[in-house]
Amino acid sequence: MKLNERGLLVVLSGPSGVGKGTVRKALFELEGHDLVYSISMTTRPPRVGEVDGVDYYFVSREEFETRIKADAFIEWAQFVGHYYGTPRDKVEAQLSLGKEVVLEIEVQGALQVRERMSDGVFIFIAPPNKEVLYRRLLRRGTESGDVIQKRMDKAEREFPLAHKYDYIVVNDEVTNAADRILAIIRAEHAKTERSIHKYIELLEVNNHE
Ligand code: 5GP
Repeated sequence: MKLNERGLLVVLSGPSGVGKGTVRKALFELEGHDLVYSISMTTRPPRVGEVDGVDYYFVSREEFETRIKADAFIEWAQFVGHYYGTPRDKVEAQLSLGKEVVLEIEVQGALQVRERMSDGVFIFIAPPNKEVLYRRLLRRGTESGDVIQKRMDKAEREFPLAHKYDYIVVNDEVTNAADRILAIIRAEHAKTERSIHKYIELLEVNNHE
């Protein structure tokens, strides 16, 4: 029996308000891929229209802290007063089935994953400029002025961390950004270090010719 090859972990990250969620949704609407989204857990209250088990698993602080102690997260972070984390069991299960798993997480968490799962693909989603980011946070209209300012301050500190990622994708147009991410995922599959083992027999034959 051939064991499944381990899947590819794709980490989408970047400052809050950059449009990570919208880009991720557009990516999943594109044809020709078999990506699985990792649903995060959070203590933030649901926004209007958000569904438990679809957008997030919404839990209490107590429950989240119990899971931290049980080492149930690949990574977790506090973001503007709330916990956010990636459940370990589901991601591991999908990766061992050979699935491509997409995380959409903030920068602190992405850097934790980078240390633990360095064979993933790390993509920083950037705004075209700071002005656009500020306008997007305002337009979203789900947070108070104080929270928007906190998210903006955090973004300023996060921009310089982009150099720790494998790729930077500017979210100028959502569909363009999603197309570029899919192109990156495809290119990653073709990278020699990820694919050479599949062709080794063929290459050996050719060497003897
Ligand atoms: P929001 O409250 O706007 O849904 O999310 C706030 C920030 O937390 C966003 O940057 C979002 O990408 C990030 N986030 C969502 N899920 C996770 C997670 O599981 N881990 C980490 N570290 N960040 C997350």
